[in-house]
Amino acid sequence: MGKKHVVKRGECLSRIARAYGFKSYRELYDHPDNAAFKARRPDPNLIQPGDELQIPERKGSKAEGSTGGTEEVKVELPLVIEAVGFVQDAEVREDATDQPAQIVNLPRDAKWVDDTLVKSKDRLGQKPRIRVRFNRPGKHPFKLQVVPGPKNAAYTGAEEGRNAHYKHETAARDYTTDDDGTKVVDDLAVGCAGKDAYAIRATGDGTAHTGPFLGCVRLVWLQELKMKGAPAATTLASTRGEYAKAGILVEQLAAEEVDRLENISADPADTTALKDKARAAYGKSKAKDKEPYVVAVAYTDHLAVKDAGKEIQLSDVRAGPGRSDVVVDVVDAANGNRVKSLWNDIVTGEGWFVSARFVKEGGTSPADEVAIPQASCTALPAAGSDKTQVQVKVSDLSVPSGTKGTIVLKVNWVNRMRAGLSIPGGNLVVICTRAWWRAESDADQNSTLVHELGHHLGMVPDGGGTGLDATPNQYTGKGHVGSHCHAGVPDQASYASAAGTCVMFGASGNMAFCPDCAKAACKVDVSKGWTAF
Ligand SMILES: [Zn+2]
Ligand SMILES: [Zn+2]
Repeated sequence: MGKKHVVKRGECLSRIARAYGFKSYRELYDHPDNAAFKARRPDPNLIQPGDELQIPERKGSKAEGSTGGTEEVKVELPLVIEAVGFVQDAEVREDATDQPAQIVNLPRDAKWVDDTLVKSKDRLGQKPRIRVRFNRPGKHPFKLQVVPGPKNAAYTGAEEGRNAHYKHETAARDYTTDDDGTKVVDDLAVGCAGKDAYAIRATGDGTAHTGPFLGCVRLVWLQELKMKGAPAATTLASTRGEYAKAGILVEQLAAEEVDRLENISADPADTTALKDKARAAYGKSKAKDKEPYVVAVAYTDHLAVKDAGKEIQLSDVRAGPGRSDVVVDVVDAANGNRVKSLWNDIVTGEGWFVSARFVKEGGTSPADEVAIPQASCTALPAAGSDKTQVQVKVSDLSVPSGTKGTIVLKVNWVNRMRAGLSIPGGNLVVICTRAWWRAESDADQNSTLVHELGHHLGMVPDGGGTGLDATPNQYTGKGHVGSHCHAGVPDQASYASAAGTCVMFGASGNMAFCPDCAKAACKVDVSKGWTAF
């Protein structure tokens, strides 16, 4: 009669059989001593920790004895590293097929475990827990080395010099197993990039074993703040899809409602008003629990910037009784007569009209000026909200018919319409749902969100700080605010009226990262997160 073996977690019959020197698990499973066990576990693949197995005496090679008889001898199997697995709580995953991703940007803390996205704190951070298992108990020295996957992102020496998170452990480290012939370690770092994969290679006592590959992702939460009574993007699926390609999981928390703001201009007071309203909604959300890895997305109707009190003129006008209306073009004389849109139908209570007057030809004194009432000024075209001309009635001005002069109008016009905004120094981005008086489609809003989220994630890198090297088409300013990518258009002095092909071009419209930005998005370090706005 042999000895007894109590099944431990992670063990299978084959492994137990091998450990005791049997060629096949059937020698154990089909042995008469294990008849009761076999009856209780009719499927040999489904055994449980705590099950008891009888280990019969193994028939070794038969040695010739001096008496000519036979006796059984024990054969010591060579010491081998049987497995390298990744630890997940009480389990050890040793197979390639059962490896959940390592979420490399989150610190290893139980507070992130939510049983859906994050199943174990062991799957967080750049240092996964690893278990090495020899085929025999005892203290066995061995070395471990991180093996990067063949398609992993490559970091330059300059990048690695700027940020230690870009590096994975390259040295082989020495360890010794515990008495049971296994060892759990958690001091080997993998890289911080998404979509990368790493295996662990163990060597010792003339034996080597490389474990399965572990895939890496980053996780970021989104907290939408939707305006009451106003439309907003109905789905962020394309934003999530674009970031999934870069190994960044974008998870949406339940949206909250925020009081409506019709427009956020470049005036700091508008930003303050937005923050106050958005904070009230954000405070009610689950976002606090996800800080600093949550980005708040507020929606507004417009992100328009106003130029107030701009002057437009039309000379050689004949005014007075019987004279026809004249039309004044709204153009920026200081800027090559560029056509401008009047500040119309953007913010309730804010109009385009400031003042109007008729100045007699050669007039120099106030007596030579006649005020034109607002009622005599009509913005054109009559239909729609994008108005670029003013029709002025001159027949009822109190001047003799045919008096020659100049009409001088002071108006508010639209300096620019922005599609989105990344509020600096915090976790708030703003997406506008209207531009130039048309609704932005879901696709437009997603494109803007990919872009603004990109800024938060360190796109487009310019080689500064702890960021990545500058990408080939990176530019700063040149008609846009911030660091952007001009893929698709040649290097030029200004990109203000150009159309690039990358979602990180300075003007909105594209959905996807260019190949260089896609690579950078995979490589960015997302471990810092953002402070709450
Ligand atoms: Zn931008
Ligand atoms: Zn790009």
